[in-house]
Amino acid sequence: MNQRLPVRGPQGDLLRLVATGKAESRAELARLSGLAASSISLRVEELIDAGLLAEEGSGTSRGGRRPRRLRLSPAAGVLAVADLGAHHVRLGLLDLSGSPLVIQERPCEIADGPRATLDRVADAFDALLAEHVPAGVPLRGVGTGVPGPVDPATLRVVTPSRMPGWNDFPVADHLATRYDLPVLVENDANLMAVGEARHWPGSENLMVVKAGTGIGCGVVVNGRLHRGRGAAGDISHVRVRSDSSILCACGHPDCLEAYASGAALAGALAEAGIEVTRPADIVTLVNDAVPEATSLVRNAGRRIGEVLTVLVNFFNPDVVAVGGSLSAAEPLITSIRAAVWERCLPLATRDLEIAPARAGRDAALLGAGTLLLEAVTRP
Ligand SMILES: [Zn+2]
Repeated sequence: MNQRLPVRGPQGDLLRLVATGKAESRAELARLSGLAASSISLRVEELIDAGLLAEEGSGTSRGGRRPRRLRLSPAAGVLAVADLGAHHVRLGLLDLSGSPLVIQERPCEIADGPRATLDRVADAFDALLAEHVPAGVPLRGVGTGVPGPVDPATLRVVTPSRMPGWNDFPVADHLATRYDLPVLVENDANLMAVGEARHWPGSENLMVVKAGTGIGCGVVVNGRLHRGRGAAGDISHVRVRSDSSILCACGHPDCLEAYASGAALAGALAEAGIEVTRPADIVTLVNDAVPEATSLVRNAGRRIGEVLTVLVNFFNPDVVAVGGSLSAAEPLITSIRAAVWERCLPLATRDLEIAPARAGRDAALLGAGTLLLEAVTRP
C-alpha cells in the first residue's frame, strides 16, 4: 500500500479532483476531466487498488441507480507543512484534502539560521509522523512558509529582512536531503493568501495582507496565486510619505515596514518606555486602551491603507483580507478601511470587502496543503 505512484499524470488529476471535493463520483470525474467513462473506470480502479481512493455505496441521487461515492482513502497519505515566523513555527500534518490531522506551535528563532531552523522543523515532522500516522500511510510531500521573498525557480530565500544567514540559502535542497519527496517553499503571505482564498467562495481576486512582525501581502488573481517573479505582493518596501525619516533595514529610507510593521511599532513603544516582545503584546496593549499603542496602530493602519489605495485602484480586487497577529488590533483594520474608502475610485470600492482574514491562524498551513497537493499530483 505504501506506494509513491500512481499519483501523477492522469491519475494525479483524478485524485486531486476528489481530494479537493470537486468530484465525488465517476460521472463527475468524467465531466470535469473530459476523459471517457471507460478510461475513468480503469484509472479509478487503479487508484482504489493502490489504496489512494475508496468507493462507498451512497451518493446524491437524481433518481435511478444511486451513484457510488468516491472519497480519499485514509491511507492515501499525509502532507507535512510548516509556517516559520520570526520567533515561532506552526507546523502539522494534513491529509491530502488539506484537513489538519495535528497542528502544533513551537518556539523557534529564525535568526538561528537556516540549517538549525530547518533541522528543528524536520525533527518535529518526524516526531509527529511517528506519533500520529499509522505505519503504511506514506508521507507524500513537505512544505514550509518563510517570512521572506522566495525565488520560485530555485526555491531559495532572496534578501530577506530579519532572517540573518538565510539569503540565497537552498531551503528546498536542504529539506530534500532528508525527504526524497516533492518539497514546497513559499513566502508566508503567499501561503496565507492561498489558504484565505478557500474561505471566500465566489471571490476570484484577493489581496491578503499579513500584518505581523513584518508586513507582507499575497495576491490571488482569477483564483490562483500570483507569484510574478517571486516578489509579487511585497508591499513592505514601498516608500511612504513622512515628515520625519526612518532608515529601513533594507537600507532605504521610509519604507512602509519601517513605520507600520510589528517590529517598527515595538521599537516606537520601546522609545516611549513600553517593552513588548511580540505583535500579540501590542494587541493586548490596544485592548487595554494604552494610548501610545492605540495611536501607533491607528497610524500603522493609515499608512498601510495609503499604500493599498494605489493597489486597489490598480488591481480592483473583490476582497482585501487582513490577517497576521497584529490584525487582531481593531483600530488597524478600521484605519486601513478609512484610508482606502477616502482615496479610492468609487467603482473600485463599491463592492470591495476589506475584512479581517477568515481562515484563522492556520491559513498559511492550509495554503501550503493546497499548493503541496498540486506539487504531489502534477508531473
Ligand atoms: Zn525597506
